Formats: sequence, structure tokens, C-alpha cells
Amino acid sequence: MSSTKSGLTRRGLLKKGATAAAAGAAGLLTPSQTAAESTQGPAVVTRARFKAWVSRGDGRGRTTLQEVILRPIGGRQVMVRTEATNLCYSNVGAVLGVQPNPGGPAPPVSALAPPPGSRRMNDMAVIQGHGGIGTVEAVGPEVRRVRVGDKVCVSGTPQCGSCYRCLRGRSDMCQFLSAIGADDLTPIADMSDGTPVFENSHIGGLAELMVTTEEWVVPIFTKSDVVGLGMVCSCVSVAGLGATTSQGLAVIEPGASVAVVGCGPLGLSAVQGARIAGASMIIAIDPIRVRRELALRVGATHALDPNVERDNLAQRVRELTTWPTDRLWSGGRNPAGRRPGAGADFVVEAAGADQVPPKLEAGPDPTGITPMQQAYQMCALGGHVITTSLVRGNITLPGNLFSIGGVTHHGGQAGGASPMRDIPKFVRMLESGQFDAKSLATTVVPLPGMLEAYEQVAYRTTVTAIMTA
Ligand SMILES: [Zn+2]
Ligand SMILES: [Zn+2]
Repeated sequence: MSSTKSGLTRRGLLKKGATAAAAGAAGLLTPSQTAAESTQGPAVVTRARFKAWVSRGDGRGRTTLQEVILRPIGGRQVMVRTEATNLCYSNVGAVLGVQPNPGGPAPPVSALAPPPGSRRMNDMAVIQGHGGIGTVEAVGPEVRRVRVGDKVCVSGTPQCGSCYRCLRGRSDMCQFLSAIGADDLTPIADMSDGTPVFENSHIGGLAELMVTTEEWVVPIFTKSDVVGLGMVCSCVSVAGLGATTSQGLAVIEPGASVAVVGCGPLGLSAVQGARIAGASMIIAIDPIRVRRELALRVGATHALDPNVERDNLAQRVRELTTWPTDRLWSGGRNPAGRRPGAGADFVVEAAGADQVPPKLEAGPDPTGITPMQQAYQMCALGGHVITTSLVRGNITLPGNLFSIGGVTHHGGQAGGASPMRDIPKFVRMLESGQFDAKSLATTVVPLPGMLEAYEQVAYRTTVTAIMTA
């Protein structure tokens, strides 16, 4: 057989190479793949009208349902038709216009506070929410990660994949998170009087459409129901599952003991993640009875009420995690039994500060500081504490335990989850039945019912709420 007929001539190979290079991928992708990628024409959706909950001004009543007019989509922008979004507790103040601790001392200035002279977020018209799930309806010409028609999670945590933190394996700290202040936002729509409309964190969620850039979007290729997806892809479930199963922060081994402090939707996702990771003992801690009962249904082996245990809480966890022996040469965890019990191998702290006083059982400390300290103290020597919540103020810890107790503290966004790596995996956990989303989404409302559902979230009369649009 001649080399000419088989196509293996030098000229033929060069010609093939030139075709691949012309396709724009330097031969790394097949021509059909590159052709498909390059067919993403520029978006033509402009001036579409859509309904959005827009927040502006101060105090109660700052969030109202408006019809707004979309601006053109370009560059790396992605437009997603919202199908479900979680009503995150961290947004209660911004949506409802309530102030935590009114009249009390001002919170300490955060390192993340905007620089002096910045415009005030409250003066801007902003669609609140930070993420959700939906279907891509338009993309800018530079978008590669998703295509029109893709089912996506608009993630509360972005992942650019090329910043220093993403490259170091900490995409939960991606540089895009450092640019979500009032001065960083660009308008994506206008109100009928011409007022520009922005979105919380460049993503929003409390609207029929979310307009973002591709760094915030994760394609999820699934046919699961929208409520389950809205839950598992929410910032809180991603953080709970991230802290326990992503191995981004700590690695929970099969058989380990895990304590979860705070059983809101984040903590209840962490309880499930600990079960999925194979923990043999999962101690759920929450002041609200229905949340403790729910924790036991979704995977906890024990439940404790911090209002009953009070200062004895850490000691109770040490007792529960007591090993069958304290004998020094026989695998005892607390040789010589100088203090009873062992402590949890892993503690996930997920309590956080109250935005408003809850209408169900209040916890021991509205600032969230006490549960964070207790989390540290109930951890085994040599164990791991993963903090996920938002507290008000500064924490103090026993210096010796902090210094030589061998407790490793892991802090991070999204429980250390890496969005493109982990969110599709969390969706598989939903599909396989490993993750129970339905039990967590205790309120489901269409878009017009959003404010009422947010009241339930704020006062903790529901575990969490999903808005479908
Ligand atoms: Zn959130
Ligand atoms: Zn990055």
C-alpha cells in the first residue's frame, strides 16, 4: 500500500496540522469540538423585560418587585433564566432591611470593608440573592464554559481557574470574590425611569434572569427536579458538603467522629456530608428542636441542645466520643484518663450570628461567638475544626489549646469546595439519593412569594426556602 493512499505523506500531515491550527485549538481539540465551541455567536438578547426583586434605600420595605429592562449581553457574560434560588440567611438584612442588634455597639470594621469614599450599596438598585440554578439563554462571544441550553448552577463562589488562589487549589478564595463591592458592580438592566440595576456579587438570583460572567457559572448536565437542584447547588449546601466531602479543607475519614455545631441548611448539609464521607458518629448541635430532629433523620447519630448543655457542651461531646479504652498501650485516646472523653475528630462550625432574634428557640449567643469557641473546645487533640459561619465580633480561645493542642483550624468560603470540580459531584449525590435536598427545602415559593418566605428564613420558622421563578 502506498503511503499516498493511506494519507500518511509528510505534506498530508502538514495540511492536517494547518487545518487544526486554523480551527483555533492548536490541535488540542478535534476540529468538530472546536467548530462547536466557536459557533457561540454573540448574544442578540437586548431590552428584554423581566421581573426582579430590587432593593434600594434603607429600612423595611426596601425590596420591591419591579419590571426591569435587560442591557445587551457581551464579552464573557452569560444570561441564565432562573429556575430556583435559595433564600440565604446571610442576605436577610439586605432583603428585609432589618438591622442586627439595633442601637447596640457598631460591629468591628472588617478587613473586607469598602474603602472610604466608595459609593453606598444601599443607594444603588440591586437585585439581591447570590446564585441559583437555571438554563442558559444567551452568552457573550468569548464564553467557553457553557452553551445556550445548558442547565447551570450560578455559584455563590466563582472560579476563574487562573488566579494565584485558584492555581494553589483554593478556588473558594478566587480573585473574583475580591471584586464584589459597590464600586465593582456594573449594571445589567435599567428600571423604567432609567435607574441602573445591579446584582449582588455580579450574580443576583431573586429575579427571572441572572446575568453574570462565566467564572460564576458551572454546567451541571442533569435532569433532576429544580427544587432539589436549587438546594444542592445553593451556597449553604455547597459549603456544608464542601466542608465534609470535597477534601478542600480537611479530609474526613470513614469511621471518624464528627460534631456539627449549628443545624441550619448549611449544618444539615454538613451532617449529610459527614454521613456520605463515612463518619461513624455524627453529633448534631442546635437549639431548635425541629432542626435537631431533622438532623437525626438525615444522618446524625446524636443530637445535643446547647441550651440544655450550656457550659458543659464541649464536655458532653468529649464524653460521647469516649473510646472503649483509655489504656495507654492499647490504643486509648486519652491515656491515663486525665480528663474524660476524647473529643470529636472533626468539628464543623455552622452556627453564625442572628440577623434578627429567632421566633423559635434562640441559641446561647446571638453574635455566634460562643458556638465558635465551643466548636474549638470540643475538638480532639490533633483534630480538625472547620469554620463556615458568619459571626459578629472577635473570638478568644484558650491559648495553650490553640498553641500546642494540635487542633488544626480550617477556614474558607464554600467549605473549601472547588466549584467546577465539586458542584457537579454534589449534583450526582442528589441524583443518587445520597443527599436529601427535600428535607432541607422546607418552604418552596414562586417568585411573587419571595418576601414572605424570607420572613420565615429570617425568624427561623422554616429550615430554608427555595424560590422558583
Ligand atoms: Zn449564601
Ligand atoms: Zn480564581
